[in-house]
Amino acid sequence: MNIHEYQAKRLLKDYGVPVPKGYAAQTSREVETALSHLGDDDTIVVKAQIHAGGRGKGTFTDGYEGGVKLCQGRAAALDAANHMLDNTLVTKQTGPEGRKVQTIYFTEACDIAHEYYLAIVLDRETAQSVIIASTEGGMDIEDVAEKSPEKIIRVPISPTMGLRHHHCRRVAFELGFSGDQVKQFARILTGLYKLYWEKNAMLVEINPLISTPAGDIFALDAKVSFDSNSIFQHPDIQQLRDLNEEDPKEVEASKHHLAYIALDGNIACMVNGAGLAMATMDIIKSFGGEPANFLDVGGGANEDQVTAAFKIILSDPNVKGILVNIFGGIMKCDVIARGIIAAAKNVDIQVPLVVRLEGTNVEEGKKLLRESDVALTPADSLVEAAELIVKQVQN
Ligand code: ADP
Ligand code: MG
Repeated sequence: MNIHEYQAKRLLKDYGVPVPKGYAAQTSREVETALSHLGDDDTIVVKAQIHAGGRGKGTFTDGYEGGVKLCQGRAAALDAANHMLDNTLVTKQTGPEGRKVQTIYFTEACDIAHEYYLAIVLDRETAQSVIIASTEGGMDIEDVAEKSPEKIIRVPISPTMGLRHHHCRRVAFELGFSGDQVKQFARILTGLYKLYWEKNAMLVEINPLISTPAGDIFALDAKVSFDSNSIFQHPDIQQLRDLNEEDPKEVEASKHHLAYIALDGNIACMVNGAGLAMATMDIIKSFGGEPANFLDVGGGANEDQVTAAFKIILSDPNVKGILVNIFGGIMKCDVIARGIIAAAKNVDIQVPLVVRLEGTNVEEGKKLLRESDVALTPADSLVEAAELIVKQVQN
């Protein structure tokens, strides 16, 4: 689960990481209130809040440039905010469709002497957390990683030992900090690690972390991603979820405990189990089709869930056919078949529907499908099912 920069900065602040003062706004009235906290002649940074980076170099679909704007005074900040709010921002990370900006963050501008990069991520390969840091922070960090990887410092942290002072000193020295800055940096890294660890984050990233000409260190941008599997342990974090940033079909699916991911193709898949879902998508592709989604109804799918699943699938206008591929293990095929028939009657399905069942009571299940008055094509094998649906969609 991802959160916005302004929310991440609040968390960082709670963990003792210095961030510039800032105010978030979602409506024109909130924009006014937010700006009233800032001085008339202040230099104000206006920042579009979307769950994607690269905003500084992004462009809005109406041609307005930059999702991060340095503005002289409140009037200029108001003008920038009006351009951004409800506009769609395209960055390297959003894909060409971009993201609609529904929150603006106003923050004090900082004098920047140098921009650094600092993050902690979970490295699955070594099963450890790793500190990643660089003196070359800022908007071009991806290029740095690609072209001069030697400028990226990586320091693993043992999960049993946790972050130790020597880690902090080592990274501080490698970044070139000295004197009081080493202490400041150690406080920042300690806070960042504590946040990462206590809230089950998978990534905490500050880019840029900056030093001012006076030598003070601040976090000017922040990204935090949490492990969705442990979010139930952190109701405070759960509250930060912004459903506006998620595909409405995926939100609806999660309400019914369905795992749904929208894809670009036109053949919808309804499957039980992630492995079967992957295999189904592969075989659709191997017959020249393109899956429209990944939808796992889970091990104990009932009629209500299958109905919800059909509705979600059909709300995607790209869907030109549906392939149901269900393995009756603990659930029996006849029960599944009844569920599919009832659900299909509930939902008006106007596209070809191919159903392949396998497993316990499969003959009974197939008989029910054959004898039902729902317009569907039963298939005996996965290959046959995929071939049938690809053909029907192409016709
Ligand atoms: P993104 O990473 O999405 O492009 P950032 O928040 O990192 O957005 O902003 C991009 C750049 O804008 C930063 O690298 C920094 O140079 C500048 N910037 C961001 N916030 C401030 C600030 N409060 N004061 C001064 N400059 C800022
Ligand atoms: Mg940034």
